[in-house]
Formats: sequence, structure tokens, C-alpha cells
Amino acid sequence: MAVKGKIMIIEDDRAICNFIRRVLEANDYETVLVHTGREAMSLLASHCPDVVILDLGLPDMDGLNVLMDLRSWSLMPVIVVSARSDEREKVRILDAGADDYITKPFGTSELLARIRTALRHTRMMGTSASIARENRFTAKGLVIDYDKYRVYIDDRDANLTQNEFKLVALLGRYAGRVLTYDYLIREIWGPNKAYDNQILRVNMANIRRKIEKNPAEPQYIFTEVGVGYRMIEGD
Ligand code: CA
Repeated sequence: MAVKGKIMIIEDDRAICNFIRRVLEANDYETVLVHTGREAMSLLASHCPDVVILDLGLPDMDGLNVLMDLRSWSLMPVIVVSARSDEREKVRILDAGADDYITKPFGTSELLARIRTALRHTRMMGTSASIARENRFTAKGLVIDYDKYRVYIDDRDANLTQNEFKLVALLGRYAGRVLTYDYLIREIWGPNKAYDNQILRVNMANIRRKIEKNPAEPQYIFTEVGVGYRMIEGD
């Protein structure tokens, strides 16, 4: 079977490293194992993997230093493996340029889902397959029409305001990934509104009333508490 992509695993814990490698190779990915930050920095350029899985706690340096060095020359997708699940840590990881994070301990299906999302975004250059094809995003009855600036739920116009549409459109472009509160606010309202999460919360509440069957249990846009929002993967 054809290899689905080359994944570099940067992790000093051999047990976790081998676990990830077994899962990935069983699913037809090629893997490259690296155990230190210094080794990673020199091998990233020569291997040019399709996705990088990066542990933050490396023996010789903070994994974020590897990420920041990588971001100075490449946008290749990076999924950070973090031991802690606190919100400030997740924001720090995403702000440093990671595409996603996964918290230890994690399961096989979660890991594979994150890798699929990351790969899809590389292949489509930040645009999901259906957006590239017909300028629309679809997921379980939700349609974002990027030409008409409209969102439909089961063929009914959700009647979003301009800013509500911009928010949903942005989340749709990066479906499957968490976008942080600050990032969303800056993109929609500009840099001066940064740190005013209230305006974002109000807009999201209105969006959910219009698109979700039960806004308390959303099925399209999920809250990552203290971090941001994530749109469901497209069909
Ligand atoms: Ca470690």
C-alpha cells in the first residue's frame, strides 16, 4: 500500500516514541524518530516531513524552541505533545505557531485524527478539499458558501450578520483545528480589540442560536475551554 505521508516524531521517551511509531506504521505512514532538540533542528530540513509530532519536554531544550526555529523557515504542520492540559499552556503552544496540540495520555484514534487534519491542511494549503473545488465547506447539513457569504443549515439560510459569517467562514477554512480567542478577535475586529473576549462570546452565542439545534451541546463549533474554538471536520 502507498505510504500516506512521512511523520517525524520528536520525543525522548522511548516508550511513547515506539507507541506512536507502531500506530503510525500500522496505518501506512512512514516515520522518522528523533530524540533530542538539537538532532531535530538538523534533521527537519533534510527530511522535510509532512507532519511533525513534537514533545515539549526534550532533554536538551524546550520543544517550543525547536518549533520557533522551524517556523523561521517552514510552515510544515506541527502537532505538539504536551504533558500538561492547562489552558495557558495550550494558548502558548498555538501562539508559538503549532497547528495543534495533543495532551498525554492520548489514544490512537485521537492521534490519527489530528494527523489526518494536519495532512489535509498541508495538501490543500490551508483550504479544505471542498472549499478548493467549489468554494464551499460542508459538514453534516452545514454549508458555508464562500461566494454568496451565506451559511445554510439543512438548506435554510442561517441569516448570519457580517461578523458572524466571517467567524464561521474562518473556522470553516481551518476545520478540525483550534483557533485561539486572540487570533479570531484580531482577524475579525482588528488588533485593537484583542483581549476583549466578551465581543467574541456574544457573537458565538448568537451564531450557535442560529446554526445549532441545541446551542448547549453544539455539533458544529466546539469550545476548547480557555483556548478557542474548533469547527467540526468537513464531510
Ligand atoms: Ca519528554
